[in-house]
Amino acid sequence: AEARETYARRRPKSRARHEEAAEVMPGGNTRTVLFHGPFPFTVMQGEGCRVTDADGLAYVNMAGEYTAGLFGASHPAIRAAVIRALDGGLNLTAHNAFEARFARLVCDRFPSIDQVRFTNSGTEANLLALACATIATGRRTILGFEGGYHGSLFGFPRGAPPAVNVPHRAVVAPYNDLDAARAVARENASDLAAIILEPMLGGGGCIPAEQSFLEGLRALADETGAVLIFDEVMTSRLAPGGLQEATGVTPDLTTLGKYVGGGMSFGAFGGRADLMAMFDPRRADAVPHAGTFNNNTLTMSAGIAALGEIYTPAEAVAHNARGDALRAALNAIAARCDVPVQVTGRGSMMAFHVTPQAPRNAAEAAATNQPLKELLFLDLLERGFYVARRGMVALSLAVGEAERAAFTEAVGEVLALRAPLL
Ligand code: PLP
Repeated sequence: AEARETYARRRPKSRARHEEAAEVMPGGNTRTVLFHGPFPFTVMQGEGCRVTDADGLAYVNMAGEYTAGLFGASHPAIRAAVIRALDGGLNLTAHNAFEARFARLVCDRFPSIDQVRFTNSGTEANLLALACATIATGRRTILGFEGGYHGSLFGFPRGAPPAVNVPHRAVVAPYNDLDAARAVARENASDLAAIILEPMLGGGGCIPAEQSFLEGLRALADETGAVLIFDEVMTSRLAPGGLQEATGVTPDLTTLGKYVGGGMSFGAFGGRADLMAMFDPRRADAVPHAGTFNNNTLTMSAGIAALGEIYTPAEAVAHNARGDALRAALNAIAARCDVPVQVTGRGSMMAFHVTPQAPRNAAEAAATNQPLKELLFLDLLERGFYVARRGMVALSLAVGEAERAAFTEAVGEVLALRAPLL
């Protein structure tokens, strides 16, 4: 309560903006994830890794737009790419010079993607990948995993019915539990269209899939005739060719989003050419997939800069090594403070858990101390570091060595301060 009071006292202008916004948007909100008590702050300006709020308070943005903000707030190459697209005119009502170049970069990069189609969000990409799987197999059941998030219309929240607002039937198993997945898949084998998962739970707490789990699901998909879909909307940044390359487990379809569009609205789904062929409009029985902004030139041009110029394979390797070093430093600090805090994840994505043991699945992550996580979030804000409220860090390229060191120090300070509660 005290931390919330301090937060509110220092942010009268953000409070006023929130109250005004609440008159025209439910809860003043249009992205649920950004809401937190007592009211969220409003950012007026971003530059590099820094954002400044309505009350003039500056933060190093460690939340990195939940992985979409890989390039920071003002990368010159992204800016140049967007201006190039603007100079060519908007809303061309036609194929444009950018989209096939961007598609080539995507296909060359991710092992499972022979062919790709663009959407406007990761949510849409997943819905289309599922549509593709159900049409290809003539079945309608999909198997997902607790704690998996595949977009605002589709997720597997723990302890609640799966949210799938499309005419599929969803069944669910715990993450990293191959026996349970096998049992559910075999029980539903004759109607199983797809097995979908994030190869590391992202929003669910940066919990990596065990190698045997991924390999087992590949075999299970082959055994049941289901389409294996990797949602790499977040994880594709963790290695040059995504986690599918890093683990050597190749799905049939992959969905992408977030940073791949250079920070513009973006999503994509792609995979085996024989599956993607259903969308070929030259075919008499083609499955339609429309979308006014699917090939919008701002995203296409920014995406070419993102993959082609900035986040090259070498840069992906270097950046994830920086993330591994940061996570190791944070875990070392927690150990030194002798507090039950674990920082899980891989490469440039990580999450704090207030628990003595790193969680392996959503149930274990949910059992960790959530109110203390909120306290760490507020304490870090007061020290000028913005992590996602749920304790997630998505390291951007704009966060330099000095900021990473200062962040580690701030985390150490907060853990020492709160050690009596932890
Ligand atoms: N899939 C995963 C793994 C995600 O983390 C997200 C967003 O956080 C999505 C899908 C949905 O993407 P979007 O927010 O672009 O719809």
